[in-house]
Amino acid sequence: MHERLLIDGRLVAGEGAEETILDPASGERLAVISGASVGQVNAAVMAAERAFETWRAVAPRERAARLLAIAAHVESEAAQYAEFESRNTGKPLAAVLADEIPAIADVFRFFAGACRSPHGIAAGEYQPGCTSLIRRDPVGVVAAIAPWNYPLMMAAWKLAPPLAAGNTVVLKPSEQTPLTALKLAEALAEHLPAGVVNVVAGRGDPVGSLLAAHPRVRMVSLTGDVGTGQKVLAAAAGNLKRTHLELGGKAPVLVFDDADLELVVAGVRTFGYYNAGQDCTAACRLYAGSRIHDRLVSDLTSAVRTIKMGTQREGGVEMGPLISAAQRERVAGFVARAAAVPHIEVTTGGRPRPGTGFFYEPTIVAGARQDDEIVQREVFGPVISVTRFEDAEQALAMANDCEYGLASSIWTRDVSLAMRVAAGLQYGVTWVNTHFSTVSEMPHGGFKRSGYGKDLSVYALEDYTVSRHIMVRQ
Ligand code: NAD
Repeated sequence: MHERLLIDGRLVAGEGAEETILDPASGERLAVISGASVGQVNAAVMAAERAFETWRAVAPRERAARLLAIAAHVESEAAQYAEFESRNTGKPLAAVLADEIPAIADVFRFFAGACRSPHGIAAGEYQPGCTSLIRRDPVGVVAAIAPWNYPLMMAAWKLAPPLAAGNTVVLKPSEQTPLTALKLAEALAEHLPAGVVNVVAGRGDPVGSLLAAHPRVRMVSLTGDVGTGQKVLAAAAGNLKRTHLELGGKAPVLVFDDADLELVVAGVRTFGYYNAGQDCTAACRLYAGSRIHDRLVSDLTSAVRTIKMGTQREGGVEMGPLISAAQRERVAGFVARAAAVPHIEVTTGGRPRPGTGFFYEPTIVAGARQDDEIVQREVFGPVISVTRFEDAEQALAMANDCEYGLASSIWTRDVSLAMRVAAGLQYGVTWVNTHFSTVSEMPHGGFKRSGYGKDLSVYALEDYTVSRHIMVRQ
């Protein structure tokens, strides 16, 4: 088991509070991890600050070489990473290996290339007699705070762009899922100069909040809950840190009457329940045209009943447990309150699976109305709601009537309709006739209460830099 923190290039035992790490599929103990003490958090930040002076001056070619080495390492130990990730999160092992590990390696590769091909405004004479040029320089020490739903992937999203841009990082994985980040820490110690990345385990409070408030941290990047984002923002105010917040979501899925029903059913069956719905882009809030609505509910209900739920290594398993007993309670609470509403019908699921582990059945809540809690609030579990609409204007209005603004999708054969509705949606991403896919080249991030700042793509690289104007008198 990988249990040591990475501080100033050395792998050290945590001196802070202990955290018991569970296998969500069995509820059994996997490890006890000692988090960072206050002194260790401080040492990590100071090491990152010292390392910044040299790392910022390392040529992009050399930074890229190191990122490529990290990508190669992740691939060469794919089986071990997948094993730890699936045991710690309960996810199907095969899915982690096939879907997540290659995407993680690709993120490091993408940013290795991106930092070598800058773009921007051309240098020139914008005032007679003076030449202006733009620099994009790193910000300094970045605190990166990751969630539990895709632990290693979120670590990669939060490490690759700031490192590529010349920043140094203190990474804090979720206290519930630190195992793959601690394994990665061992490789980072090998592939990067001391202090360039530091990895500190521990709870949001104190370890995360110490980082968010630390006067030597210049930027804090969080993927997590909206409430956590608000706390981080407040803590960051002390030294006016930059903030980069990827918060929750409640993705609307607009199914028009002319949509390919089979495609929709297959898509929602996959993208609504992947990772047991613990995904901020999950296809969880369906709006169906009035003519397709009844068939959609009926076909989707039949399809969702065939989702194979099980433990990590079971043959053909598609969906694992929720991350914790508390998360299962939370999901069960949402469904119980929805089921008590007279106009709502739970057409499948709606129960925890008896026995060990934190399993909850894939669930459909039909007949939901726009103001219902199940339509408005993020469940972060294997639960989708279905709401009927009459026309495109109503669908668009209902889709946008939401505090979140991360992901959305449109299902129709009418390209003009898709373009019109996509233009009106207030979401960071809109997929047409699909849902869920991210690629390293395209930005990921939301607005409204889903936060701001982009992961992936050259826009993430920009987010971790500051633009500077140099004017030279001729
Ligand atoms: P969380 O907010 O509880 O925890 C996220 C991280 O923040 C953890 O590392 C935690 O220890 C830390 N943290 C908690 N309190 C803190 C504080 N006061 N100061 C600093 N750090 C603190 O979220 P979670 O339960 O791990 O993850 C689920 C949430 O993340 C969901 O709401 C989900 O929508 C969101 N999420 C968003 C995206 C996105 O891209 N927008 C992606 C994945 C998850």
